Amino acid sequence: MIPNNLKIYNTLTRTTEKFEPLHTGHVGMYVCGPTVYSNAHLGNARTFMSFDVIFRYLTHLGYKVRYVRNITDAGHLESDADEGEDKISKKAKLEQLEPMEIVQRYTIDFHNMMQLFNALPPSIEPTATGHIIEQIEMTKKIIDNGYAYEAEGSIYFDVEKFSKEHNYTILTGRKLEDLMNGTRELGGQDEKRGRLDFALWIKAKPEHLMKWPSPWGVGFPGWHLECSAMSSKYLGDQFDIHGGGMDLAPTHHTNEIAQNLACSHKNPARYWIHTNMLTVNGQKMSKSLGNSFLPHELFTGNHKLLEKGYSPMTVRFFVLQAHYRSTLDFGNEALQAAEKGFTRLMNAVKLMDGVPVSNSSTSDIPTLVANVYAAMNDDFNTPIALSHLFEGVRIINSVNDKKETLSQDDKTLLTKLFNDFVFDILGLKEENEVNTDKIDGLMNMILDVRTDAKAKKDFTTSDLIRDKLKEIGFEIKDGKEGTSYTIN
Ligand SMILES: [Zn+2]
Repeated sequence: MIPNNLKIYNTLTRTTEKFEPLHTGHVGMYVCGPTVYSNAHLGNARTFMSFDVIFRYLTHLGYKVRYVRNITDAGHLESDADEGEDKISKKAKLEQLEPMEIVQRYTIDFHNMMQLFNALPPSIEPTATGHIIEQIEMTKKIIDNGYAYEAEGSIYFDVEKFSKEHNYTILTGRKLEDLMNGTRELGGQDEKRGRLDFALWIKAKPEHLMKWPSPWGVGFPGWHLECSAMSSKYLGDQFDIHGGGMDLAPTHHTNEIAQNLACSHKNPARYWIHTNMLTVNGQKMSKSLGNSFLPHELFTGNHKLLEKGYSPMTVRFFVLQAHYRSTLDFGNEALQAAEKGFTRLMNAVKLMDGVPVSNSSTSDIPTLVANVYAAMNDDFNTPIALSHLFEGVRIINSVNDKKETLSQDDKTLLTKLFNDFVFDILGLKEENEVNTDKIDGLMNMILDVRTDAKAKKDFTTSDLIRDKLKEIGFEIKDGKEGTSYTIN
């Protein structure tokens, strides 16, 4: 185990706290996954890339991490107020498909996207439809404990009763009255007793597609219930980390906490982590503003707001350049800068093996290593960690240019730092690995021709090769040990 100096900003306490796992050496982490009714969008991608880095870093520190990220494949209605159609059923009707065909299609789409972004799969990926029994059992227990009631075949959580004994808004710190005022008044038709009550189980209308039998008749679970049921099933009544996008905190996560407390009398997670939003040129990304794009549009550049396409690793690098709690703004300039930065980082990694060693170092490498760890320990601060890694890039380039020196010990340390952080923790990787070999072969052939030309004192040809290569982005450098190249 690497000594644990990790601090995490906890939404629950609104402070940065030292991370102490419940069980030594183990971490239980639950992250709310996607509702699979349409193509995965970039806001989701950012959230899950952030938790991927958190998962990878905790694993690197030596923890055995059980990372649970669910797939919502039923019960998520169009409105948070238990109104509207089930999102998956609606899409299924629209496309004249079975709901499970929709689920299958978009689950695969989501997995493909996460793989492109080099995110590791979670340890368990449970689905709502696979846990109907657990959700019914939990509903029964909440009713038995006196915090839910039946109305016309549906079961509602009694927020007013719960609030008398618990702090319902503990996660956001909002005032209950403000929340009340922001919710519409109940009419005569409503089955709910209180405005803030929410559904645990919803009676299915005859035409509803995804429904199951229950002690209260045929119906389907409310959206918030699945996460309470599945997190406690796989991680216990209380576990270490619960995460998701910040838009989930006011309703979904608030209700999750209430359900768990009403069922087992425990706040499910000790640390609540929330990721911030994506914006595009300073505006919120939304379909209605026409400024939202799908991952494949970002990769191909096939969108009116994009000047060109950006590779998945450029996007991942770009995402990591902002702290997960800050907004992240997509814009061409920023993406192009990220592309350059990523290439620079990868070029330095390639140079690393071949840099010469000396008796001593001109830079303090142990301090550099400590700085990178300190940044990650400060609430997973990837932009600061990257800025220290770029100090490493500068050192590698300087040593390669023989302007600075590196001892063998420090070279080993720096190599380990880059391997650990760039690849294992930040999850970046060399792109087009197959092609890299071919390019390398081709480049070596061209450089041999140039060396021949130079040997024959045909400097016109050797200079022409150098200049033409530069034009297409290959920088070549002549040294004592031969000629090397970098791709710009
Ligand atoms: Zn959830």
